[in-house]
This record gives sequence, C-alpha cells and structure tokens, in this order.
Amino acid sequence: MKIICIGRNYLDHIRELDNEVPSAPLVFLKPATALLVNDKAFYIPEHSKDVHYEAEIVLKICKNGRHVKPEYARGYYQEATIGIDFTARDVQQACKAAGHPWEIAKGFDHSAPVGRFLPFDDIFIEDHIEYELDKNGETVQRGDSRKMIHSFDEIICYISRFFKLQVGDYVFTGTPAGVGPVKIGDVLTAKVAGEQVLRCPVK
Ligand code: ZN
Repeated sequence: MKIICIGRNYLDHIRELDNEVPSAPLVFLKPATALLVNDKAFYIPEHSKDVHYEAEIVLKICKNGRHVKPEYARGYYQEATIGIDFTARDVQQACKAAGHPWEIAKGFDHSAPVGRFLPFDDIFIEDHIEYELDKNGETVQRGDSRKMIHSFDEIICYISRFFKLQVGDYVFTGTPAGVGPVKIGDVLTAKVAGEQVLRCPVK
C-alpha cells in the first residue's frame, strides 16, 4: 500500500501559503507507516514546533493500473473519505529553502489519518463533494471539489504515469484554504456530505 498525495490543488490554499500555481499536479508520497486509522489519537512529533492540519478528500484505489486513460479513470475509485495531511510546516519551510525533499515534513509516522470510507457515489452530490474540518467544534476548513485545479480523474491519469496504482492505495487530493497549527488537546473532526467520517484527537 502506498499513499500518493497532491499538493497545491486549490487556488485559495496556494495563495494563503504564497506558492506558485503548478502547471502539472504536484505529487509526493507518504510511506505506509504514515497511515493512522480508526480515529486513533495523533501525537505531535518531537521534530516539529509547528504541525499543521490539511483536510483533504481521500480516494481509495480499487483496481490495479498503469497509464490510465481519461475515459477509464472513474473505474479506479469507488470509495472516498476525508483524511488529514499533517505537515510539519517549520520543517517543510527549511526543506524547501534548502532545495531538499520534504518527506520528513510530510511523511513522518501517523502523518496521514484517514477517516471512514463511504461509497463515492453517495457523497458525490450532483457534480461535486463538499466537506469541512472542525477544530474543537469550530469550522476551520471548507472544501468543495469544484474548486480543485486538477479533477479526481485527471489526478488518477497523471499519477498512474509514474506509479502503478494498486488496490488499497490511497490518494490525497489537496487541501483548501484554512490550514493551521494543532496543539496538544485539540480535537479535529471532519464531515463529508454532512456525515462525520473522522475524529482525530491531538496528543
Ligand atoms: Zn496536503
């Protein structure tokens, strides 16, 4: 199993971090050890003083494939949920400044909590998915898949050019604006189509 992530896929988030709009999807990986499931607690890692949440729609891959063509992309995911791409923002800034890869900022243990999966067709209302992340009961991020720069199908086609998609892989599809820090005692909850799918206590 692997976790494939897309960065900078919402304009409002690109602007809040003062990044450039990528011409092709920005792709990075998290190792399998980043996964955190069943609403288990997230422990802030010792190597960061500024860990941020990034709520994202996560697709679960249900079919093996390489070089997927656009007309077949929809067949590669049947379920989706919300996940959190935890990011050690201070470490990431240092990696970026040095021109280094950012795995230690984004791929550390349990940096990828993933919620309960729901059938994609149940949460894909008309032509889009809406979701929100609450921190301690207050909404901090609202996402709408219509605002994604690269669609789910475009992401599937693009990433399968480089990485063979395998059943059970996860695809994080980017975060909207509103990212921010977490501290010990915070509780994050995520809803998609009005249904809570993830609860993540921070310790
Ligand atoms: Zn992200």
